Amino acid sequence: MTPGVGTEGGEAHDWVSRDAAVVWHGFTQMSSYADNSPVIVDHAEGRELIDVDGRHYLDAISSLWVTTLGHRVPELDDALRRQLDRVAHSTLLGNGNTVVIELAEALAAVVPVDAPHILFASDGASAVEQALKIAFQYWTNKGVRGRHRYLALGNAYHGDTVGGLSLGDGGFGTDVFDPLRFSVVRTPGYDDPGWADKAVAAVESHAGELAAAVVEPLVQGAAGMLVTDPAEVARLAEACRRAGVLLIADEVATGFGRTGRLFACEWSDTRPDLLCLGKGLTGGYLPMSATVAAGHVYDAFLGEDLGARTFYHGHSFAGNALAAAVALEHLGLIERGDVLTNVGARAGQLEGLLTREVAPLPAVRAVRQRGLMVGVELAPPAAGLKWGRRVCAGAVRRGVLLRPLGDVVVVMPPLTITADEIERITATLAEAIVEVAEESHAGAPPEAP
Ligand SMILES: *Cc1c(COP(=O)(O)O)cnc(C)c1O
Repeated sequence: MTPGVGTEGGEAHDWVSRDAAVVWHGFTQMSSYADNSPVIVDHAEGRELIDVDGRHYLDAISSLWVTTLGHRVPELDDALRRQLDRVAHSTLLGNGNTVVIELAEALAAVVPVDAPHILFASDGASAVEQALKIAFQYWTNKGVRGRHRYLALGNAYHGDTVGGLSLGDGGFGTDVFDPLRFSVVRTPGYDDPGWADKAVAAVESHAGELAAAVVEPLVQGAAGMLVTDPAEVARLAEACRRAGVLLIADEVATGFGRTGRLFACEWSDTRPDLLCLGKGLTGGYLPMSATVAAGHVYDAFLGEDLGARTFYHGHSFAGNALAAAVALEHLGLIERGDVLTNVGARAGQLEGLLTREVAPLPAVRAVRQRGLMVGVELAPPAAGLKWGRRVCAGAVRRGVLLRPLGDVVVVMPPLTITADEIERITATLAEAIVEVAEESHAGAPPEAP
């Protein structure tokens, strides 16, 4: 439990040099990677990651939003070992695999999609890409012309492939790819209280050219945890239904319990035509994602063998058996283990603590939360102070792993987080914020952590 039990200049220094010599880290400037005190994980226990020097870090970002029940969950470990004695992987192109069938049956019983059919992939971005292409071809297969565009929201994030990037609203330094992006009908995101009105109006006025509207229900995560109410999501869904525009719900981040229900769509009985799943699908163990298509969408692809209505798309590792075995056990554990009850209780506790101890700090502009998805937006007195980065570095030094989105500190603990751990996260966060604010106040140079 004690942070900093390792000795300075222990193993970590060595591992960081070896790392920087050969690994290229995503979303990371490699020329300063080694100077930013990266945590080099050796193993984990429950919700803590342990680095090469034996320091413990509470994983308060669920390893970038994927870990649900914690690390090294005995039941998930066993499911993986059992599947290893059967088969690790066999292709889903034209053939099947028992554990994948069982997983698809279990998912079909719980997803908020009518008559669901499930196309597996490996990353969230691929699930989104599949949804885009399915929506596009759906209209062609139906003999409808001209529905080639998508409606997407301001601040949207749907992954890093070119299709996902096009739906996404930029930021994170991705402007360099603007010439590659295809154009979308863009209406404001959740930071605009009138976003739903504007999206509904655009769905109506552009209906004839829209293949689909794409939304992150309830929370725009990568935008810094911008939130909306379930009723607003339902209004967009209803507008899509009236206009005959397909609705794609990207629940890669919100799925599998983060918001307190299994899927965020459930808060407003929203039934999307296409649902994208990823991140928490395997409890954060293995890369697996899925695009769930409603029956009427799937049916539009039925036709002659080898014919033009077929969906000619499929990833090598789609429906990986090891991932499927873990995902199947994971879904069972969520349903059997009262996990969502814990999410509700811990989310309530977290909200109370943040309201009392974090929101009133002068260095905090806003706190946004849905379930166990939280964004604490800092209020730096000037640009370029890297407050988000520095606050998270302060938390990491105190043994709580956090990572910011710009000046928004994300708190997204595993769904099995305990009351004590919630207290530890909020106390640590408050301390780190006060420390950084005092440094800036004292005019200390913003040491790049
Ligand atoms: C993370 C995320 C993605 C991309 O998933 P990857 O597995 O990183 O490709 C897509 N959509 C949303 C809403 C996400 O949060």
